[in-house]
This record gives sequence, C-alpha cells and structure tokens, in this order.
Amino acid sequence: VEEYDLVIIGAGPAGYVAGLRAAQRGLKTVVVEKDYVGGVCLNRGCIPTKTLLESARHLNAIKMAGEFGIKVGNFEIDAVKIWQRKNQVVENLRRGIDYLFKARAVNFLKGRAKLTGKNLVEVKTGSGISNLEAKNIILATGSSPFELPGIKFDHERILSSDDILDLNRIPKSLIIVGGGVIGCEFASLFSSLGTKITIVELLKNLLPQEDPEISKTLETNFKKKGIKVMTDTKLESIAPSENGIEANFSESTKIESDLILICVGRKPNTENLGLKKVEVEAEVKGGWIKVDDYLRTNLPNIYAIGDVTGKILLAHVASHQGEITAENILGSNKVIDYSCVPNCIFTFPEIASVGINETRAKELGLDYGTGKFPFRALGKSHTAGEVEGFVKLLIDKHNDTILGAHIIGPQAVGLIAELSLAMKNKLKLNQITDTIHAHPTFSEIIPEAVFTYFNLPLHTV
Ligand SMILES: Cc1cc2nc3c(=O)[nH]c(=O)nc-3n(C[C@H](O)[C@H](O)[C@H](O)COP(=O)(O)OP(=O)(O)OC[C@H]3O[C@@H](n4cnc5c(N)ncnc54)[C@H](O)[C@@H]3O)c2cc1C
Repeated sequence: VEEYDLVIIGAGPAGYVAGLRAAQRGLKTVVVEKDYVGGVCLNRGCIPTKTLLESARHLNAIKMAGEFGIKVGNFEIDAVKIWQRKNQVVENLRRGIDYLFKARAVNFLKGRAKLTGKNLVEVKTGSGISNLEAKNIILATGSSPFELPGIKFDHERILSSDDILDLNRIPKSLIIVGGGVIGCEFASLFSSLGTKITIVELLKNLLPQEDPEISKTLETNFKKKGIKVMTDTKLESIAPSENGIEANFSESTKIESDLILICVGRKPNTENLGLKKVEVEAEVKGGWIKVDDYLRTNLPNIYAIGDVTGKILLAHVASHQGEITAENILGSNKVIDYSCVPNCIFTFPEIASVGINETRAKELGLDYGTGKFPFRALGKSHTAGEVEGFVKLLIDKHNDTILGAHIIGPQAVGLIAELSLAMKNKLKLNQITDTIHAHPTFSEIIPEAVFTYFNLPLHTV
C-alpha cells in the first residue's frame, strides 16, 4: 500500500489543478486518471471545440475578405487537416500537463480508481491493482453526455458531443437537439463549414439560461445565416432513413438529416466509484455528489470538485474549486463564491455574461436599471467590420454596482473579464468610467454602457 497526503481521482481541470496546487504547497499527491490528462475540457470539450471554431473563424474571414479589399482566389476546406490540427493542439496541451506534473512532483497513475474505504483507493491499472492510502481524497471524476430516454447514441448517426469531435468530415446536414451552449457552438461551427443545420430546443428560446434579449438576438442572427431554429419543440423519436436519419418532432414535424447530435445535458461520472460502500452522499435527483461551501462531502477528509458536484459545469469553476480545495486541505477555510462566474459562449457572434439576467432580476423584485450600448456606435466595430450586438448592464439602483452584464458581439468572451472583476469587487460605476479605456478598442463599449445608464451617452442619442 502506497501512502499519500492526497489522492485525487480524475485529471480534468478540477483534479489536475488541485494536484498542481497541493504539490506546490508540499502535499505528497497522486492524481489517478483512467483516460487522458486534461479531462473533458482538454480532450472532448473546451479546447477541441474552440480549436475547430478557430478554423471556422478563419474561413468566415476569407469569405468576408472582399469587403476589406482583398480578393481571395479559389480556396478549399480540408476537413481532415482541420481535425488533425485539433488533435495536435490537444496533444500539445496534454504534454504541457504531463510536464507540469513532473516539474511539480505530482505523481500520476493511469488507471480506474474507486473508493474502498474512507482513506483507501483501489486503482485498476494496465498491470494489476494498486492500493493507495490517503489522508485526504478528492473526487474529480467529471461528467458525461446525457442520453435522452429511449434514444441511444449509436456513435455513427446518433452522436454525442464526444462523437462529433472525432467526425473528421463535414456532414451535408445535421440536426442538433438541445439549444444550450454546446448545441449553439456546434451550430455555429458546422454552419460556417457549410452544413445545413436545424437546431431544436424544448424551451422557448435558444440558450435558455441567458438574458432573453441575448437569446433572441442570437436566434435572429442564426436564422439570417440559414440555420433553422425550432424552439418550443420536442424530439419524439428517431428512425434510420435512406440517407441518414429521420427525426420526428412535436406537432408531426419530420426532418431528414445525415446526422443527429444530441446535447441535452450531462450526468455525473460516479458509476463504480465506491460512493455507496464508503457512504459518500449524492443527490437523489441526478446523482451529483453533495458538497458544502468548502467543497467537503459528508465525510471530513473526502472532497468533491468540478462537474461531478453539478454546481456550474464549467472548466474555470472546476479549476477554481480545485485550487480552493487544495488550500482547504492545507488548513484554510476558503468558501467558493458562485455569484459572479463568467459564462462564455463561442458562437458567431460571441456571447458572454456574468451575474444575473433580467428575468432573474424581475423574479427577485430588484430595484435595477439598465445601461445598453450597441457595438454599431463604436469606431472599432467599423474598422473591424463587426457592428452587430450590444452590451447590457443591469445596475443596482441603490449603490450603482453591477448585478449582471450581458454581451453579444465581437470579443464578448474577452470583454466579460473586466465586468467580472468589477462585479466581484463591487466597483462603483464611476470607478469604471474614471478608468481610461483605450481607443479604438471594443473595451470602450463598457464605459459607454455605463453612461447610457446615467442617461448621459456620448456616442449614441
Ligand atoms: C463540447 C463541450 C464544450 C465545452 N466547452 C467549454 C468551454 O468552452 N468553457 C468551459 O469553461 N467549459 C466548457 N465545457 C465544460 C468543461 O469541459 C467541464 O466543465 C470540465 O471539463 C469539468 O472538469 P472536471 O475536472 O470536473 O471533469 P472532467 O473534465 O470530466 O474530468 C474528469 C476526469 O476524471 C476521469 N475519471 C472519471 N472517473 C474516473 C475513475 N473512476 N478513475 C480514474 N479517472 C476517472 C475522466 O476520465 C476525466 O478525465 C465544455 C464541455 C463540453 C462537453
């Protein structure tokens, strides 16, 4: 039996970051991973999707080049190369994590782990069974695609997000079931690459978690690009057809397509993890592992972090939980604050938000005001040829601080960082406008949105 201060199960952004921080602070740490380091984020999530989207972004730029006075001759899309590049980026970043593990003396064990006692972890490796004894254990096993009842992934025509990332080709047509973040990003990707897209959402709007104005703007933009958007629609059944798949929706709508991608949610990876045996509590509904504000489970030396806790399924939340947990194991009492987590959606156009949206502000009966400014009124937008979209701020009328910020438009995912910092630190609006923002940049939209809240806009009337 090998003894450790800390055994971490899962090397996704939650587990590997916890491992780096713990080892850096002197804990004898081992990270166990059954698959590849980096987890979903690096291998089947954030990084591969964004790498493919970068190829699509280059393609969109080529299509727009004429507007900028540049004639592009014949060009071709090389799908195999696009996917190869994605694989190369993933591999390079995996090597980066391996390097960090070695440099920081984080032990790494490849194998499937399960709890066999409150301080014991059994790992099935390629060469047998290893038993680890741990003062502390972190469960960071992540999540997997959720299957709709009665509709199994066949991995050929009925695909999960994992499957489509290995497609290596551009389908002629694709139905995307689920208009959340993942569904909308894939819609942007494949529509740019020339696939005929139908996106179907059960609820009233695409991106139902976002501010309704943002969702509506995205829907209009998608429709303009020829993406068929079906909201308030339920997938009833799927059957194979001559050329692919036939999907039947509510109100007898039938659509035929090459492929169907189902992205309707995630489920926690807790199967055969030994939770029952060791009596780690999980939620009855959904099975997510229960944790307190310090990320501790019901057992004092066992923690859970990342997607498996079902809190907010984002890589930066997972990593932040990892950092906090490592510090808490070392004796801190750090509490996690979920109130201003930036949410970035890498669609074309980009979307980003932090804090509450207007629907929530109304539900809470808050006394709020709004400051909204269009990208069209910025010099930078015209230089870049990207004039669509806006920033919308929700302001607490009592203390002039930000309750929520919502952006759709160019560089939204970068711009949100300033608003997250302002919100987390409860900056007053005048502290934002007193900060000089460089010209011409998209960042100028933030003080402009604040001026609009005060009814003192500079570049709109
Ligand atoms: C298509 C897609 C796109 C996404 N894009 C973004 C994005 O742009 N930005 C963002 O913030 N988030 C994004 N996410 C979400 C993000 O990937 C997850 O929130 C993040 O990966 C969660 O990290 P984690 O460490 O909790 O779990 P995971 O990344 O799921 O890692 C868990 C690891 O544990 C391992 N494991 C599980 N069980 C065991 C066991 N018994 N023994 C050993 N190892 C085990 C798994 O193999 C896995 O490697 C995306 C997700 C998807 C699916």
